[in-house]
Amino acid sequence: MLDTHAHLDFPEFDADRDAVFLRMREAGIDNLIIPGVSPAHWHKQLALAQQYHAYYALGIHPWFCPEDLNLGMSALTALVNEHLLCPQLVAVGECGLDKRYRASWPQQLALFEAQLELAQAVDLPVIVHCVQAHGAVLACLKTYSLAKGGVIHGFSGGPELAWSYIQRGFKLGIGGLIMDPHAKKLHQTVSEIPLEHLLLETDSPGMTPKNVFEKRNEPANAAFFIQQIAHLQKKSCVLISEQLQLNASQLFEL
Ligand SMILES: [Zn+2]
Repeated sequence: MLDTHAHLDFPEFDADRDAVFLRMREAGIDNLIIPGVSPAHWHKQLALAQQYHAYYALGIHPWFCPEDLNLGMSALTALVNEHLLCPQLVAVGECGLDKRYRASWPQQLALFEAQLELAQAVDLPVIVHCVQAHGAVLACLKTYSLAKGGVIHGFSGGPELAWSYIQRGFKLGIGGLIMDPHAKKLHQTVSEIPLEHLLLETDSPGMTPKNVFEKRNEPANAAFFIQQIAHLQKKSCVLISEQLQLNASQLFEL
């Protein structure tokens, strides 16, 4: 089983990263994908992916819009091309749009479009961060249709929104929000949508399921999310794990 979205390169894990990987494997999660967030993070991210034999994606998160967009994008393009034959590089991202950061909206949009263009050119799927910006993300995905598709990570919406993404060839990243009894829309989505469209993720150290775990989220928690998905889909945990693993393998060509 794979945690398809875990920022294990973040400083929150510096003190006990070995133990976090150990707990993850003991919980039945064999590996993870470390998404890229900014040029300042790439070096450590790549070193840790190498050290722990983890998968990784390369990209620039909308929270880290570079001052010089062209410079940021040419650095990203060069790095992606340099690692294109590396079997651990599985996607472009995370990239996307976040309307909570309105001041940088024009830069976010240009950065997202440039990364979709890059994903098209190198034929990789994308890992998309989208907060309060589904209309704009869907419009971009229509303009830059991607043969390999991708994932809308940390999906929280209802079935109708889910289907608009599925129709564009995207999967839905299901994370800690699934543990929240108030997340009714998401529960409805996970009960109704065929399992082949879902991916498992934690977004560690973020998106900690409230009232369930201590403050920091970690990949081992994904085992609890499988139980909750199984409960909502009325299927066994074994079946859910096998299908989610298959979905990740197909999307990221593992
Ligand atoms: Zn993330």
